[in-house]
Amino acid sequence: MTVTSVLPEVQAFLARTHSLYLDGKWVSSSGEGRLPVFNPATGSVIASVADATYEDVQRAVGSAKNSFRKGVWREMRPADRERILLRLADLVERDAEILAQLETLEQGQSIMLSRLLEVGGAQSWIRYVAGLTTKITGQTFDVSIQMPPGARYTAYTRKEPIGVVAGIVPWNFPLLIGVWKVLPALAAGCSVIVKPSETTPLTMLRFGELATEAGVPDGVFNILTGTGRIAGECLVQHPDVAKVSFTGSTPVGKRIAQNCASRLARVSLELGGKNPAIVLADADLGRVVGGLTMAGFMNQGQVCAACSRIYVEEPLFDRVAAGLQQALSGMSIGPGMDENAFINPVVSSQHQKKIQSFLDGATEAGAEMLQGPAAPNEQGFYVRPTLVINPDDSLPLARDEVFGPVMTLTRVKNAEEALSKANDTPFGLAASLWTGSLDAAMRLPPKMEAGTVWVNSHVMIDPNMPFGGIKDSGIGRDFGTGWLDAFTETKSICIQH
Ligand code: NAP
Repeated sequence: MTVTSVLPEVQAFLARTHSLYLDGKWVSSSGEGRLPVFNPATGSVIASVADATYEDVQRAVGSAKNSFRKGVWREMRPADRERILLRLADLVERDAEILAQLETLEQGQSIMLSRLLEVGGAQSWIRYVAGLTTKITGQTFDVSIQMPPGARYTAYTRKEPIGVVAGIVPWNFPLLIGVWKVLPALAAGCSVIVKPSETTPLTMLRFGELATEAGVPDGVFNILTGTGRIAGECLVQHPDVAKVSFTGSTPVGKRIAQNCASRLARVSLELGGKNPAIVLADADLGRVVGGLTMAGFMNQGQVCAACSRIYVEEPLFDRVAAGLQQALSGMSIGPGMDENAFINPVVSSQHQKKIQSFLDGATEAGAEMLQGPAAPNEQGFYVRPTLVINPDDSLPLARDEVFGPVMTLTRVKNAEEALSKANDTPFGLAASLWTGSLDAAMRLPPKMEAGTVWVNSHVMIDPNMPFGGIKDSGIGRDFGTGWLDAFTETKSICIQH
């Protein structure tokens, strides 16, 4: 066991009485409510944050709107906005270990994952998006308007920031996904209010302080800690919020879409998945086992794009099952602060119970299971990593998003059967194909119903590769060179001359 010691800066941050972060400073909530933050590895409370009220939401939106109207940020030279955002990435790099420890302590994930993906990824994505501030362009048009006769016109478009953006963040990668919700809006020149999950608000609060230190003007980046039921709903319904950028579950995403539709607010939705992997008989066994172990169990399967259903062609099935069983039995389980523990607690006791009820349902139905190590203690929110073999397709665990360390492994006759089962889901976020055949690698991905298809890997993302879902997995794409389009409106300007 190699346990990371908690830094004094992290202890001091946890001991603070956290308020709301509005207008570039800490501001008390209008209410008395506090929300506890738990350490998933021990089940104990490590901090508390303000529970934002309706009045707090009005105040936050007011700050964002004022800053947008004043125009300090949106009218700033793009290169200056870029410089400030690059400085923000440098500050995240400077405070990387503090942020990584906070993330592990509130979310439960491995400190190695926090360092590499959450905090390392945050830097990469901030730097990528900072570069987009200087690439916002419109078009010029030759037009043929005939009124009045003989008049000549020239038209062009400007991409203008959309206004006040609400970013709503889930608990599975609180800092990284927070960056995905906030940064493109900032790069486009918008003012932002972010609402982290009530379960994992701490890293975003620290990030807000860093944004101010980097030079983001007051009121441009505001943070409301609170519940989805009150702070989230009020934000989404607020008439001055021009756009909601949401990552979270499909049911909440649908509710947000309805709320936005009623006032024609723009919305993008990155939602849940039930992501399949199709393994053909000619796949490289070692690659399959290593890749799918990581894809299914990283962050305890609490990854939107995690692999949760594996379909293996008959001839390779037994060897894949044996390889995954060996991987499960070699896993170590323990707190996220233990660098060697591959499986860590899930985020909350509520989520632990939800996953366990899926597993209980499968046990009652007589499903065959292979399991990894049991929890090291009863206080932490641990779930045993589990592989369910050939489950009935109607089983809730096989159909619904479990969002835990659970995968199903199903034997199929051929690629066509695998494809039909893989696509038989309301979700369409991500999928993977494992094969040694170039022909299959070219033929099958276009038929796989998902926003992203990986070949011979799964769950790999990059700032330059668009990411998002089809069907019940969402609307819109994050990342890529077109990322800021969703945070701008196109204005046509037509000049008679
Ligand atoms: P969630 O329950 O949908 O919550 C997400 C966020 O929405 C939280 O901040 C939540 O606040 C807030 N919220 C809840 N109800 C709301 C409402 N009525 N109006 C406005 N906001 C509301 O999701 P989660 O359990 O945190 O996260 C797991 C889910 O996120 C999974 O389904 C996963 O697949 C999905 N996800 C998708 C992607 C992707 O890119 N497609 C990435 C990561 C995660 P509270 O925390 O206070 O309830």
